[in-house]
Amino acid sequence: MSGTAIIVGAGIGGLTAALALQRKGWQVDIYEQAPTIRPVGAAVGMAPNAVKALRYVGVGEDLRERGRRQEGIEIRVPSGRSLMMIPAFGIERRYGAPFYSIHRADLHDLLLHRVGVTALRTEHRATGITTHADSATVTFETPEGTTSATADLVVVADGIKSRLRPELFPGHPGPDSAGYTVWRGIVPAADAPDISPVVSVTWGRGARFGIDAINDGQVYWFACENLADADKHEHGLDPLVARFRRWHDPIPQLLASTPAEVLGRHDVYYLRTAMLSFVRDRVALIGDAAHAVTPDIGQGACLAIEDAVVLADAIEEHGVDRGLRTYNAIRRPRTESMSRVSGRVGGFMQNPVLSPVRDAMAFATPTSVFTRAMSAAYGWTPAAR
Ligand SMILES: Cc1cc2nc3c(=O)[nH]c(=O)nc-3n(C[C@H](O)[C@H](O)[C@H](O)COP(=O)(O)OP(=O)(O)OC[C@H]3O[C@@H](n4cnc5c(N)ncnc54)[C@H](O)[C@@H]3O)c2cc1C
Repeated sequence: MSGTAIIVGAGIGGLTAALALQRKGWQVDIYEQAPTIRPVGAAVGMAPNAVKALRYVGVGEDLRERGRRQEGIEIRVPSGRSLMMIPAFGIERRYGAPFYSIHRADLHDLLLHRVGVTALRTEHRATGITTHADSATVTFETPEGTTSATADLVVVADGIKSRLRPELFPGHPGPDSAGYTVWRGIVPAADAPDISPVVSVTWGRGARFGIDAINDGQVYWFACENLADADKHEHGLDPLVARFRRWHDPIPQLLASTPAEVLGRHDVYYLRTAMLSFVRDRVALIGDAAHAVTPDIGQGACLAIEDAVVLADAIEEHGVDRGLRTYNAIRRPRTESMSRVSGRVGGFMQNPVLSPVRDAMAFATPTSVFTRAMSAAYGWTPAAR
């Protein structure tokens, strides 16, 4: 089964959906509001479930070349004392794929390269959608004025602030604040200290700091603070340098070497209220538009990639209408459960009162328990064909 498809949004979810559908013979047009595809200056972790999905759509080799295979993850406290070390080989052996870190721009680039830039229409901002029995029409604002396009299938991948979600599901209340903020930066290779190939995450009271060596010697870091603390700061690096100055090396050095123009502040929102459906007539929502989760278990983009693969497979197997129903039936329970877990982990991690309990639990728990605990996320595999 193939036909014409419109994808709204050229994020990780939209690009993967375009690729997955193209591989099934669909003619795909991607509409993106931005003038160029310039994802935020940050990295993204591709967990084994997403790596298996990316291999399935034919970009496993590109990911291997452009990403960096993680060797493990170490949890520390601000003094530098190690609470736990989870080696990657256990995860890889158990779940059948490694964990990669990759610059977001590189992931977009490798997906777009496979999809083909001719499929992409930039400066098209979706503003409305009408569904019909066997097609759907999307209206766009462009620099030249209003235009519209109709296709057999529309995939809405316009992210957490989706413009089309409320049009399709006016009863849904939209995103909620998770109560904390993430600051992100990338230190260019020339200024980056020599960083361990193991991802480091440091847990403080109501704050976390992560360090991840990514491609070509660059280092990605993130700092997480409760919103009230983050709001005390002006935008800018100096308050962050002061906030983390007593944390272990190389945290102060990384903050000091970050170019101001790459610092990003991201107040975390998610869809606390699950959508009652991801599908309406010939339209499917995927990724953050359908089920934005908090970043605490690093699964938002991974789930968007899974959605894309499941959607294309379901439509190929069952035709569009039954395929969309199948997609909805498969993806809602999985994403709802991942969202619940992620939200709970975030609440626990950011609770300053519970931090001694959290640290004691991590110190006392064997790493094999953590490796197994991720099985719901990492154990997902595309249907064998
Ligand atoms: C701090 C942080 C760290 C994270 N780390 C990870 C991680 O390590 N691993 C992981 O898997 N996930 C992670 N995530 C989650 C991940 O970033 C998102 O889940 C993922 O980017 C969602 O992809 P998407 O394609 O659904 O939406 P988006 O990436 O938001 O893409 C939406 C696209 O649609 C476009 N668009 C929006 N509105 C319109 C419109 N009206 N018309 C046309 N185009 C439109 C946008 O410009 C954008 O290009 C993290 C999130 C945060 C906040």
